[in-house]
Order: sequence, then structure tokens, then C-alpha cells
Amino acid sequence: MIIEEIDLRSDTVTLPKPQMIEAIANATLGDDIMGEDITVNELERKAATLLGMEDAMLVLSGTMANQIAIMGFSTRGQEIILGNESHIYNLEGAAMSAVAQVQARPIQVQDGYFDLELVESAISTGDIQRAKTALISLENTYNLNLGQIVSLENMKKIQDIAKLYNLPVYLDGARIFNASVELGIEPSEFCKYVDAAQFCLTKGLGCPLGSVLVGTKEFIDKAKINRQRLGGGMRQAGIIAAPGIYALENMIDRLKEDNDRAKRLAEKLSTIEGLFINMKDVQTNIISVDIRHCEMDAEQLISFLKEKRIKVKQIGRKKIRMIVHYLITDDEVNYVVSSFKELLENKG
Ligand SMILES: *Cc1c(COP(=O)(O)O)cnc(C)c1O
Repeated sequence: MIIEEIDLRSDTVTLPKPQMIEAIANATLGDDIMGEDITVNELERKAATLLGMEDAMLVLSGTMANQIAIMGFSTRGQEIILGNESHIYNLEGAAMSAVAQVQARPIQVQDGYFDLELVESAISTGDIQRAKTALISLENTYNLNLGQIVSLENMKKIQDIAKLYNLPVYLDGARIFNASVELGIEPSEFCKYVDAAQFCLTKGLGCPLGSVLVGTKEFIDKAKINRQRLGGGMRQAGIIAAPGIYALENMIDRLKEDNDRAKRLAEKLSTIEGLFINMKDVQTNIISVDIRHCEMDAEQLISFLKEKRIKVKQIGRKKIRMIVHYLITDDEVNYVVSSFKELLENKG
């Protein structure tokens, strides 16, 4: 077996399948700002149906979807309640303050669980001094919290609280399908408890770009104005939508394989001296490896692995992350495990 490069840094490194390139070549295109790209319209209709929402809108990235959602639910000077490790708070260039002009009210989220008392006590109805809460924003799977699944029950309870205060709830569902296939439920189940959501076409689904925002028709109409303001209005966007349609039809169910393969990889790695993985954290396709008891630090380990043509991501001085995706095979999992063994049990 010839091992080429094994890139476990993220599921965003996935390349489009040949069928996706073919779908791009054969797509019927039109001007999407005029609503005339029938391929975009088809993707949006499929996405709305899949998530059980009224309407949908294609955008260029998950970050853009999140910011458009925030802009849609808030006005300048308000506050958004979100997880302290959320993508919106940590990895979007502070767009919520720089662009949407709201501030974050981060709360601690433990093991993918949004504590109900913390959420409720973070809500502000607004007075002269305190910013008024505009939105509660959830994330599922919770990326920086190791890809953990936020349970339907937790989401429902958050919605119950939000209703008491007449607040909307948003879901950053970049990897929502990794959660739905893991629980064996329809992705629309999650959307019962939120007013709007986004999912990424670019993660495990393997598309070259794009995210889809879903919500009520009224919300999406407003979102189209905000997308335009951000320079995200597109013309023949069917070239983005075509692989998206392929992905919705062919790439969702197979995500269970990635989740299962991630568990197998994690189980095998956890038996290696110097590596610690909390198996209960490995719920979907993300593995966080604690190398505290390893003589090497993450940088050294990463450069050793590079020599083995294995790429992983450093997430701390003594922590690395791996994300399994459709390009990773069982043979490669075995190769990764034996490479770690060689490095740590011989040299470690
Ligand atoms: C990847 C990701 C996004 C959006 O990413 P883009 O790179 O902007 O497409 C948003 N939220 C979460 C949780 C993500 O993992």
C-alpha cells in the first residue's frame, strides 16, 4: 500500500469528488441576485426541506452565514448569548462586533451542554446600563468543544427559556449532519428548536465552498439584503450549488463512517503510551489528543508526523486535534496508529 499524504488537520481539506466537478460542468446557470439560477434555487429548496424550514439561502462561508444571521436578529449595541468556545466568538475575526456591531455574552459550555441557569441568568431585558439580549446562539456539533453533540433535550429547554423572554434561537450547525447521523435522526429534528440555522457544505460534505442559511421566509428575505451588504450577492452561483446538491444527496449518510472511523482511531491511539484521549469526548469526527505525558511537545510531534506524511493540528502546547473525513481510509487509520507507536514507543 502506498500512503500519500494523510491530512487530519480538518475536514475542510476535503477535495471535491469527480462527480461534483461533473455536476459543476453540467449545471444550468443564471443570475442568482435576480433569483434566476435554477441550480441555486434547487439547492436552497432541498436544504430548506431537509432542515424542515420555510426557506434557505446559499452563502459563501459559514462565517458569512453566522454574521448574516446575527445581523438579522439584532440591532447595533445589543448582545448575543453564545458558548465561550463557539466559532462565532473565537474564529470569525470579531465580526460580530466589527461588522454586526453587537457584543458577545459568552457562557461556559461543558461537554456540549448549555447550562440552563447560566443561559437564563445571562439574559438581559435591557436598561440604561446593560445591553439588551437579542439572540441565543447555539452550536451543534460544538467544534472547539471537541465535536460534541448538543442533545435535542438541551436544545428544547433552551428554546423554552428563549420563549419566556421572546428571544430567537440560532443554530450554527456547521457539522449538524455529523450529529444527526450519529443519533440516527433527521436533521430537521434539531431545527424544531431554533428560528434559523446554517450548515457548511465545505466540511465533511466535501464541497469546495458554500454554506446554507435556513429560516422563515421573512428571515431569509432580510438575510438577502444583509448578504448583499456584505458583498456576498452572487451571479452564476450554480457552480457552488451544483456540488452542494450532490453532497446533500450522496454525502450525508456516509458521515456515520467518519464518526465510526474517528472512534476506532481514537480507541487505538488511546492505548499508546503518552497519549490520552477521553473516549466519551469522541462523539463525532473530531479527536482531541492530550500529550501531557509525552516527552515531546505538540510542535515536535507534529514535525515527526510530517516526516510520515501525516498532518495533524496543534490546539495547545500539549494538545493536538485530528478530524476524520471521507478521504481517510481504514488502511490510513492503521498507518497513523502504527506511526504514532513507532514515534512514541521507540523514541518516546
Ligand atoms: C467551519 C465552521 C464555521 C464556518 O466556517 P467557514 O470557514 O467560514 O465556512 C462556523 N461554525 C463552525 C462551528 C465551524 O466549524
